[in-house]
Amino acid sequence: MRLWKTKSVGEEIDSICTRCKEETIHRVVAMVESRVHLVICTRCGGQHRYRPSLSSMRKKTPLPSERQARVLKKIAAAQAPEPQEPRKDWQKLTELAAEAQPLPYDQSESYRENQAVTHPSFGLGFVRRVINDAKIEVIFKHQVKILVMNRPKSRRE
Ligand SMILES: [Zn+2]
Repeated sequence: MRLWKTKSVGEEIDSICTRCKEETIHRVVAMVESRVHLVICTRCGGQHRYRPSLSSMRKKTPLPSERQARVLKKIAAAQAPEPQEPRKDWQKLTELAAEAQPLPYDQSESYRENQAVTHPSFGLGFVRRVINDAKIEVIFKHQVKILVMNRPKSRRE
């Protein structure tokens, strides 16, 4: 299962333009959390809130299945207290992870809360929090790490 690609500031996106009164290509001006908030129309230069085009709404990734949603909810509940002690609920988390289909961690990918990931150095982890469009807080067996996401593939550290 692939998650939807999160846009970032400066990227092009289809939106309904309030001035052109039709779907035109826009550029992302501002993000709120991981959602596109403000866009600028590349045709008329008008800046306005993002209005998803009909086609982008159709392309939207479906929500997780009910079963998947229940698993994610359980993980969230297990993680909620004691953020300083990731190991406390580790056993419970790893049991749930088997059902949560962990994704390999890749800094160019996009993750959401409660997603299970596998990291080459830290092992199995869970996205505890999406900090912003580029950073996630991941709980691993021995530590909590801030990891990057949505990094363009061409830029390497
Ligand atoms: Zn326009």
